[in-house]
Amino acid sequence: MNEVVLKLSGIEKTYKKGEPGEVQVLKGAELELRRGELVALVAPSGAGKSTLLHIAGLLDLPDSGEVEIAGEAMQGRSDRRRTAVRRDDVGFVYQFHHLLPEFTALENIALPQLANGARKTAADARAMELLNSVGVGERAGHRPAALSGGEQQRVAFCRAMANTPKLLLADEPTGNLDPETSDRVFGALVKLVRETGLSALIATHNLELAAQMDRMLRLDGGVLRAA
Ligand code: ADP
Repeated sequence: MNEVVLKLSGIEKTYKKGEPGEVQVLKGAELELRRGELVALVAPSGAGKSTLLHIAGLLDLPDSGEVEIAGEAMQGRSDRRRTAVRRDDVGFVYQFHHLLPEFTALENIALPQLANGARKTAADARAMELLNSVGVGERAGHRPAALSGGEQQRVAFCRAMANTPKLLLADEPTGNLDPETSDRVFGALVKLVRETGLSALIATHNLELAAQMDRMLRLDGGVLRAA
């Protein structure tokens, strides 16, 4: 009931840039994201949004503090365990789609499932279902280069959802789309999140989109505050 899917406690991160100094990006960031919550992360460029998302998604380690995913404290866990949690519980979407160019939209969504032990017919069926739910089912057989930017990004959402993660992290997922496409793609993302009951933390510059989420957090001076 209202389970905490992502918990960050006292997250600190400093990049050592050599001379003349260091940049302390995160200074004790705290967050609790509950099941089914859709939360916007807003802050100017350079404030540390990507750093925070990478730490939350187990792609990077904090200098100190604790990351808990679905109740499991990740500090001190082996690389192997971190990789398994990332693969099973976390979906990541970037500003650019990063789809594999030589595979079709459907294959891009089926592949992570096959890597996770799914059978091909089941993987293809789930991929098709996800594509249909975001309105790009008709483009299933096309490679990324033949898709529009908005379609590519919707396929990237489907890929992030392929292995039914508990947590979706997105780093300015509509940042390189025009406003109208951005609205449509964002609508598809909200629909996916609502249908699956997963939790999502989405970095965005777009305050109109942010206002449509359940709540908004601002990354300010290395900590998270309600906005
Ligand atoms: P945002 O996503 O909000 O634009 P980032 O998390 O990308 O912010 O970056 C926060 C700050 O940390 C910036 O000043 C950036 O230059 C610095 N930074 C990010 N990654 C590195 C890195 N690998 N090495 C050194 N500095 C970095």
